Amino acid sequence: MRQRITAVIAIVVLAGLAWWLPQVRRSLTRAVVTFDAKAMDPAPLPGGGGPGLARVARTRVVLIDGLAAATARTLPAMSALCKTGATLDVEVGFPTVSLPVEVALWTGLTQQQTGVVYRSSRPLEPPLDRHGIPAQVPGSWAVAENYGYIVRSLGFARVEPAADPAKSSKDLEPAAWITQWQARALEAVKSAAPLAFIHILRVDTAGHKHGIDADYARVALEADAILATLHAADPTARWFVLSDHGHIATGGHGGEERHVRHVQGCIAGPGISPSRGSLVHIVDVSRAIADSVGATLDPASRGRPLSAALVNPLTEDQGVPPMALGSGALAIFVLVAGLAVSSLGVRRWWLVPWWFVIACGTLIAIRGLPSLSTPMIYKPEGRDMYLTWLPALVIAFLATWIGSRRTTLGRVLIAQLALPFAAAAAAITAAGAWPTVLGEPVAPVVPYFTAWMSPLILMAAHGSAAVALGVLATFVPRWFGRPEPAEPPRSEPAAG
Ligand SMILES: [Zn+2]
Repeated sequence: MRQRITAVIAIVVLAGLAWWLPQVRRSLTRAVVTFDAKAMDPAPLPGGGGPGLARVARTRVVLIDGLAAATARTLPAMSALCKTGATLDVEVGFPTVSLPVEVALWTGLTQQQTGVVYRSSRPLEPPLDRHGIPAQVPGSWAVAENYGYIVRSLGFARVEPAADPAKSSKDLEPAAWITQWQARALEAVKSAAPLAFIHILRVDTAGHKHGIDADYARVALEADAILATLHAADPTARWFVLSDHGHIATGGHGGEERHVRHVQGCIAGPGISPSRGSLVHIVDVSRAIADSVGATLDPASRGRPLSAALVNPLTEDQGVPPMALGSGALAIFVLVAGLAVSSLGVRRWWLVPWWFVIACGTLIAIRGLPSLSTPMIYKPEGRDMYLTWLPALVIAFLATWIGSRRTTLGRVLIAQLALPFAAAAAAITAAGAWPTVLGEPVAPVVPYFTAWMSPLILMAAHGSAAVALGVLATFVPRWFGRPEPAEPPRSEPAAG
């Protein structure tokens, strides 16, 4: 009788967890794409001083959103223009999301320093002030193809398209704008404005639709043709051609993947001799733009004069912010504690939480490593992810059902769930996400672990449900075979 009561309590608690954890996951995902992070130090970037670029009368910046480096190298107009100036590999930092990267570009501060880490469809209101470059340049003018909320966040004196008065993240009359924007961009470039910024979006849109395929390449050529037209309108200005991030092969960005973080860029025009630089940081590009227009970066900026950046490149992953030492150590402790507790329950090889091992394996094998670039981690239901691990849940169910007839229920529960729960808790710890779990409006955005929270929390929820069903199944009278004699809890050491 007591056993039955324990089993009922276990079922109720597990069902509660299975219901609650997906909501925790959803609220964390929402926090990631919505809020800002606490401002902190940037990744340790190389230093170096030297002469900056001389100021010029007109600076023109074209940013092709979502243009992967490998594709950029195939574009004829961009390559021809870049060949006349300094070609750069640009580290955009982490996360690889348009608004945060463009805020970094126009302030000289990394995403970690500004705390602007995602803000999906959430413009900065008010826009950047004189801490940013555009607000320091009278007559600065920005034109975006669409998603105008990004350029409207940056502090340009003049910015198009205008916002929809009803919703600031939306553009005013987008259908009409799409037919006019190239003419407006041309006008901005041809004007006497000392700084003009053109934000081309179509390549990113294509990347999200199908990943890096023939259509993406075709759309990139369109963007390249637009660049050629713009450059021809003011060939004597100093030109910056940039991107804010690449895409993973299947489409998506946001994560720490090298080919998403590293993009192609170049600076061409007066005062720039042809050269091929290696990896510089986007804040070094900020410094070059600031020097071109006579603006000053925030004293906390790590942006270096171009001459210094060119001779002292970053190493491949230097732009990835390191994990805070405290949360890293704590996360490892949580995981090790989980393993230790788990081993208390595992008395038979088949009581190992194989379902969890297999679930992680099938997720990675079928969908790839989760990152902030993989759309699956953001989806509210997580269907793309859990379809891969549904079969593994059958193992959790069977191990629980069979296990609870052979050893104590407590042991079975610990064996099946301690490790998955510890893994989810470790990811939350490493991402610094506990304050967010408790309701603080902070974006827990760190490399690797923010993305892993999403599948691990959902796995813990589904594991709880499968184990609850396994416990429930022990109530079902057995129809096959004779009932086994009840076995006392094992006291001999685990065998096999
Ligand atoms: Zn995008």
